[in-house]
Amino acid sequence: MKIINSPEEMQRTAQNIRRAGKTIGFVPTMGYLHAGHLSLVQTARTSADLVVASIFVNPAQFGPNEDLAAYPRDFERDEKLCRDAGVDILFYPTPGDMYLEEHSIWVDEESLSNVLCGASRPGHFRGVCTVVAKLLNIVLPDIMVLGEKDAQQLRILRRMVRDLNFPVKIIAAPTIRETDGLAMSSRNKYLTPAERLEAGCLFQSLEKARALFAAGERAAGNIKAAVRAAIEATSGKVDYIELVDDETLRPVQTLEKPALLALAVKFSKARLIDNTVLQ
Ligand code: AMP
Repeated sequence: MKIINSPEEMQRTAQNIRRAGKTIGFVPTMGYLHAGHLSLVQTARTSADLVVASIFVNPAQFGPNEDLAAYPRDFERDEKLCRDAGVDILFYPTPGDMYLEEHSIWVDEESLSNVLCGASRPGHFRGVCTVVAKLLNIVLPDIMVLGEKDAQQLRILRRMVRDLNFPVKIIAAPTIRETDGLAMSSRNKYLTPAERLEAGCLFQSLEKARALFAAGERAAGNIKAAVRAAIEATSGKVDYIELVDDETLRPVQTLEKPALLALAVKFSKARLIDNTVLQ
């Protein structure tokens, strides 16, 4: 596995790979890798000749009072995990190399970004879109693998690729979970042992919603109330629980088309998200 720090070298390397007729599968991450990230690498391996993974804790997607400084980092461990998972190139740039002084061009999605995490985290998706646009221009992948765990991010990046004509195919990979259903996340590290025991409530609340839906419930209000009750039985504080149209992300009252049930819950230091599609 080759480690590349410089964006210029990464781009030159990607150009050479493409000139040689090989395809590139790309997995962007913020590091502190877990089995969810590695499942994306496996998907990329089966879909392209070479796999590039990136590790970059992107300052532009963190708000001023968020966890940029505290975000867990362990490059040595990540490097080994990537090597063992069959990553061919690990791209690991510095913030200074990614954002030159007076960086002044941003990619702003103006519709899907206004709800859910975009409403709670102003500017977050502007940072995500900008860094992913840059990474696509640097890594030049044929395919990019993204996790369904970040459902809104996935939909926004699909829109960006469509609206800005990026020549890349996005593949969505399912959420990998702990045995109690908690979605794997680098931020789970922030949970205290007591909170970790409670954090399974996100998944359990989604399961409850799925059961209600399967039994014929179509009123969004009733489904959201059941989800809220399951979360509020713990020390978790609801940031949002929303049922939105799976394509437009507009709120739905009655479930007639596929709907995305998305939630964000805060424990003392950890803000956790999860989702499911009801259809
Ligand atoms: P992150 O490092 O959190 O920015 O995530 C990098 C990529 O991994 C994103 O496409 C995420 O959606 C994906 N991802 C994060 N957690 C999981 C998980 N538990 N299962 C599958 N994919 C995940």
